[in-house]
Amino acid sequence: MPHPPQKALLAELYGRRLLRDEISMLQTALDSYLQAETILKEPALITQNHRLFCVRCGNQHPERFAKHPCARCQRICTYCRHCIMLGKVRSCEHLYSTKIQPRTSSHHSHVLNWKGTLSPGQTKASEAVIKAIEEQSALLIWAVCGAGKTEMLFHGLEHAFTKGYRVLLATPRTDVVKELTPRLTNVFPTVPIASYYGGSDAKDPSTPFIIATTHQVLRFYKAFDVIIVDEVDAFPYSYDKSLQYAVTEARKPNATMIYLSATPDKPLRQTPGLQTIKIAKRYHGHPLPVPTFRWCGHWRRKLQKSTLPQNVLDWLKQRQRKPVFLFAPSVALLTQISAALHKHSLPHQTVHATDPNRHTTVEAFRKGDIKLLVTTTILERGVTIANLDVAVLGAEDAVFTESALVQIAGRVGRSTDDPTGDVLFFHYGRTKAMLAAKRHIQQMNREGDE
Ligand SMILES: [Zn+2]
Ligand SMILES: [Zn+2]
Repeated sequence: MPHPPQKALLAELYGRRLLRDEISMLQTALDSYLQAETILKEPALITQNHRLFCVRCGNQHPERFAKHPCARCQRICTYCRHCIMLGKVRSCEHLYSTKIQPRTSSHHSHVLNWKGTLSPGQTKASEAVIKAIEEQSALLIWAVCGAGKTEMLFHGLEHAFTKGYRVLLATPRTDVVKELTPRLTNVFPTVPIASYYGGSDAKDPSTPFIIATTHQVLRFYKAFDVIIVDEVDAFPYSYDKSLQYAVTEARKPNATMIYLSATPDKPLRQTPGLQTIKIAKRYHGHPLPVPTFRWCGHWRRKLQKSTLPQNVLDWLKQRQRKPVFLFAPSVALLTQISAALHKHSLPHQTVHATDPNRHTTVEAFRKGDIKLLVTTTILERGVTIANLDVAVLGAEDAVFTESALVQIAGRVGRSTDDPTGDVLFFHYGRTKAMLAAKRHIQQMNREGDE
């Protein structure tokens, strides 16, 4: 019988569930761990209720599986298309995990390095977070855009680290991971923090505080005592059952779940046993800017002639010295809008999700080098720019859901120095979503006044 290999080798599997390719240890070491049942091995694709089921991502849609001649098993084998961005899960493969958990010996105390003060709303939320962590319960923080939700977490996080808990903060966007990591490192300078996103090089999954995109969560397994899901309503999380599955798989059995959202959908709000705290006021105490609807006729036809509706042009010309986001319904329309703006000598840049210059463009906008940015819904969240005005062209388009429109309006008036600004919905026919978004904002303002 071979000697069991050193425990250090196991570290890469702590709180993880990985494919063979994702584990670096040699086959001999893996074999002896399997024999000792220190590492567990399970089929990666199984049949459940007569349906294929991907154990990594929870996919069970028949159309999201495919077959291919497999180089590994030399047969025609099935793989999961749904989580393929993390490497192929095939029917001839297994997932590996370990029951052994890293010892949470490092109880961090006095870890919070933050001298700011919380608004009354933030204080209420902060206390609820601490309580949820103590009681290992589930909490939804429904906080308006600009309420300052990151600060609401500070005291709860401190409490969790003091107890030696492992914490995951999951967020749909890589941008947000990159923005939050340095910010939280400043606030918790003695707590090791690792960030996981596509292309990141974080290696140690036993780090007590992990900030990850929701996709990366698919590789974690029974790892966390506290899970915070940021922007729980945001694409892709709300449309993607597999990411909910990922969060469920990543938690330890009694984990605290904290959901953050400005626009939670009904199914979430009605989750049994989920306590909700509503923060209807921004941290600076000013109301949310209410959108104005402006009919602009058949704007698509205008774009085909490389021009824009007159009221849109007038509005843009009036704000040539102010930062402005102009939201468009699709990437395809950005080129047409850009051509029209050129024709009217309005300097601008465009940006969309897969734009290779996306980060430099947003950075130039932040610095004030660009004043007008024409964007898809990619910038609807997570971006804070002072003195911003926003307009939506074609607010009636189906991509502009109630939640997207509330988020877009929520970009405006975020700084204490300039808490107001314009939110214009240019449209060719009002939609239910537009009306719902406006009602939502007005309702939050009423509640904020109470
Ligand atoms: Zn195969
Ligand atoms: Zn899958």
